[in-house]
Amino acid sequence: MSVSGRPFLQIPGPTNVPDRILRAMDRPVIDHRGPEFAELTKEILPPLREVFGTREGAVVLYPSSGTGAWEASLVNVLAPGERVLAFNHGHFSALFAQTARNLGYEVDEVPLRWGQELPAEEVEARLKRDAGERPYAAVLVVHNETSTGVMSDIGAIRAAMDRAGHKALLIVDTVSSLASVEFRFDEWRVDVALTGSQKGLMLPPGLALVCAGPRALARGETGGAPRNFFDWRPIIRDNQAGFFPYTPATLILYGLREALKILVEEEGLDAVYARHRYLADAVRAAVSAWGLPNLCEKPEFHSNTLTAVVVPEGTDSDDIVRVARDRFGLALGVGLTRIKGKVFRIGHLGALNELEVLGTLGGVEMALSELGVQIGLGSGVAAAQGLLARTPEVAGRRDGTVVTS
Ligand code: PLP
Repeated sequence: MSVSGRPFLQIPGPTNVPDRILRAMDRPVIDHRGPEFAELTKEILPPLREVFGTREGAVVLYPSSGTGAWEASLVNVLAPGERVLAFNHGHFSALFAQTARNLGYEVDEVPLRWGQELPAEEVEARLKRDAGERPYAAVLVVHNETSTGVMSDIGAIRAAMDRAGHKALLIVDTVSSLASVEFRFDEWRVDVALTGSQKGLMLPPGLALVCAGPRALARGETGGAPRNFFDWRPIIRDNQAGFFPYTPATLILYGLREALKILVEEEGLDAVYARHRYLADAVRAAVSAWGLPNLCEKPEFHSNTLTAVVVPEGTDSDDIVRVARDRFGLALGVGLTRIKGKVFRIGHLGALNELEVLGTLGGVEMALSELGVQIGLGSGVAAAQGLLARTPEVAGRRDGTVVTS
């Protein structure tokens, strides 16, 4: 691998951090109890609410990762022993369910195919059957399953919960979708949504973000589990004056302010979502030109942030990831747990533009070819180029996508 030029970080998160954001974080650490810091907090929270799609929800920040956000989303609203409904259709939905079990909740985990979306009718049927004395207190859903490249329809899941007339809270993991794909927290009446800093928000790992709606906030006042660090009540209280009850990740918050400026003010969220859709279409065009299956079973649930590509029998996808890394400095995602060796994942989220996508696809082609997978060098790149060349008017493309420098 050459040491010159930029490494291509095309795993489905952490994503590339634009230089502008790096520069915004490259500054002296300030006093987190001083007025300058209070201003920073007050600048960050309103645009974050926009990203979640909420007016009435409270966004809570923790120095943590998505795993901490899972824990925060549960312990604030669920008392130990309460029942939750969860689904296993990939590595992260399974881990979310496991987190709930580890915290002492009783979890009904519905097994689904890895590559399948979370079917709204399955949610409806499970909730309709839940007529006992201890009904489910929450339904745990992963919006975008990062291990399989499947994006479920949260609006349809909310409608299914309504049809079942069930009062369970809706808790949604948006770790690999938020700020890349539209999320409508208020409209879908999501109770808690959670994410991490290192994907659509274009920041380094290190922040967990949770958005809590009115029902969840009320539950947090009187219920929930014994908790300390993840208790959102003192954070929301202190945030009103711009402070935190713990030492916040000061410098990442400067990066977050810059990221929100880029996403909300400059490119605009609608353009950000359009760009992700358009670049994802280009990647999918390439995968289909290679003749390799997309692990996501149905096109309408294809993720706009990553694609899990199934390799032919006899090829180990870990080898493709290794060759891409060692020869070309291109980082691709491996297949996780049950699908280890069977898929590799191309991340196409965060700060990304057309030429970076074409470079990534070129690197994937060379790695596949080196391992003897017959895809026809250039076939995927040409398919992606054909699509990218045909749609020059995509929103935000001219002024917004070049955020890497
Ligand atoms: N949920 C999803 C959908 C993820 O993709 C990830 C990580 O990639 C997590 C949760 C866990 O987040 P973290 O690794 O930041 O703890």
